[in-house]
Amino acid sequence: MEENPKEKVNLIISCMDRRLNEAIEARAENTLANSGKRTIVLRNAGGDVDNLHDSITELLSKYDVEEARVTVHNDCGAMKNIAQIKHNGQSSDDTHRKQTAEKYANTDVEGLCKENLTVQLDSLQKIVAQISPDTKVIVDSLDVLHVPLDNSKEKKAAIILDSAERSHTNYSELAGIIGTSISNAYFIQCTAKDNLIPDIGLLPKALGINDITIFSTEKTNSRASALFEDINKQKFASPSLHVTLVELRVAQPAEQHGVKVKHRSL
Ligand SMILES: [Zn+2]
Repeated sequence: MEENPKEKVNLIISCMDRRLNEAIEARAENTLANSGKRTIVLRNAGGDVDNLHDSITELLSKYDVEEARVTVHNDCGAMKNIAQIKHNGQSSDDTHRKQTAEKYANTDVEGLCKENLTVQLDSLQKIVAQISPDTKVIVDSLDVLHVPLDNSKEKKAAIILDSAERSHTNYSELAGIIGTSISNAYFIQCTAKDNLIPDIGLLPKALGINDITIFSTEKTNSRASALFEDINKQKFASPSLHVTLVELRVAQPAEQHGVKVKHRSL
């Protein structure tokens, strides 16, 4: 008996920065149009490969990942946060971010953004070599300084808990669901039980965002509820933090967006 061949997919690991949304969405759409391949996207603060280890491992094992790409960018908020930690030394109270800062030698934002390219490439190459040596590893950096921003809408964030079988890159549509525009939505995205709490903590602390939506699929509902409780427990020194859970369903003809709001916090 021959095993069914694994589905061929591409993987993109990138930063949650809103200025990357359109570029990532376009890349995923182009890959689908040109080769019929799905692109699975994972995003967190800085495109940190180590913090997405569980999702990357899951996807490399489950699929024939032809290309794994890390996309970083200039003017990165995560690198600004590291520059701050380097500057303040031990005064930072965030152990996780302090550990992340130790991976970098540079102390200025521009140097850190360039160094981030090699830090993430090294980490990804190590994981790929262990699990899927045939996967092509690519890294690139996008210039986001001239991406037009729409300042008429509120900045909001969404955490997309995809299942490996269903990944979302329709950021324009998801931004619409949370009531903002694509250039005002920050997306954190994974498929496995990665630790997202430090990244989510940056939203109110570093970006002033107090409106967070957790998108789940049928397969990730229980994880979404657990994350919802975790965030509510943390509160990140922001009593006004508002978290909403939304289940994304496969669209039925009668149900255009296929979206159902499950729960809303006070
Ligand atoms: Zn960034």
